[in-house]
Amino acid sequence: MSRVYNFSAGPAVLPEEVLKEAAEEMMDYRGTGMSVMEMSHRSKAYETIIKEAEADLRDLLNIPDNYKVLFLQGGAHLQFAMVPMNLMKNKVADYIVTGMWAKKAHKEAQKFGTANKIATSEDDNFSYIPDCSDLPISEDADYVYICENNTIYGTKFKTLPNTKGKILVSDVSSCFLSEPMDVTKYGIIYGGAQKNIGPAGVVIAIIREDLITEDVLEGTPTMLQYKTHADADSMYNTPPAYGIYICGKVFKWLKKQGGLEAMKEYNEKKAAILYDFLDQSKLFKGTVRKEDRSLMNVPFVTGDADMDAKFVKEATAAGFTNLKGHRSVGGMRASIYNAMPIEGVEKLVEFMKKFEEENA
Ligand SMILES: *Cc1c(COP(=O)(O)O)cnc(C)c1O
Repeated sequence: MSRVYNFSAGPAVLPEEVLKEAAEEMMDYRGTGMSVMEMSHRSKAYETIIKEAEADLRDLLNIPDNYKVLFLQGGAHLQFAMVPMNLMKNKVADYIVTGMWAKKAHKEAQKFGTANKIATSEDDNFSYIPDCSDLPISEDADYVYICENNTIYGTKFKTLPNTKGKILVSDVSSCFLSEPMDVTKYGIIYGGAQKNIGPAGVVIAIIREDLITEDVLEGTPTMLQYKTHADADSMYNTPPAYGIYICGKVFKWLKKQGGLEAMKEYNEKKAAILYDFLDQSKLFKGTVRKEDRSLMNVPFVTGDADMDAKFVKEATAAGFTNLKGHRSVGGMRASIYNAMPIEGVEKLVEFMKKFEEENA
């Protein structure tokens, strides 16, 4: 067996401990004589799995009792629609557009009402987070929407926008559980699992209870109403059962690492190794304004597309995979999620140094 250092933006690296445990339990999950994949989601064994997953997530994020945790499907993309369908009572929402995912969410919301773009950083290819301390929040906005960590561009909100009392909805797909967050500041937090938590196919939404009502846009399908899933404890229909089981293992792994405070420290240390190198490199440079840099996704370029391609090719051959940047930024991107060990980043930087010397 040989594992690479996988810098994929998602689906992405998972803790080896979790993968090993899942492998051990594959044929016979704890004496049930079957895999979790083969198990009824209504069975006792599975009930324990999903209940524990929720309890551990609540512990990790310190989720207050007046918030529901939902395990959903349809990717983050379906939330682009579910959010307006469930929250747009006045048919008005304000979007802060800091990248491709926020842009797509904003576009989708326009199907359901007036979705205002109240701030954007598109003028500089989304390389920074705009000042959101005093935005023209609409009087009748049902919510204010952000994408908290911009996976493609490598920016992160370090301060939440001043929503002037409006509900904040945040897509945290690529920074979920990378550091502590104050859940009470949000109406909805949601994210796809495949970046920092587990396999693709699971979306986790944390929603303040008073926002879960029957008062949704006319014609909203049953499956797209938060209330349907909240009332049924995420078991209205067959949930993405195996994916939730892996997420649950990752939650336990995170608790073992010391929880989210410890992860934040680890992630800061890890990201600093790469950013410090980029800041002094003569060949590579980061593409993001320093104060807005993400701890999870680190885009960088040489400024020469051929050199970028050469680097990606040689890095791949050396066991550092999925470093090619998104086409809209070009260059490279190293996604260094929770499960990327610090050695992975240290070795990547060593490799970059060597490449820089060879190509000076
Ligand atoms: C990957 C990603 C998405 C899209 O997720 P899907 O599960 O493919 O729909 C949306 N938002 C962010 C921040 C992402 O990183």
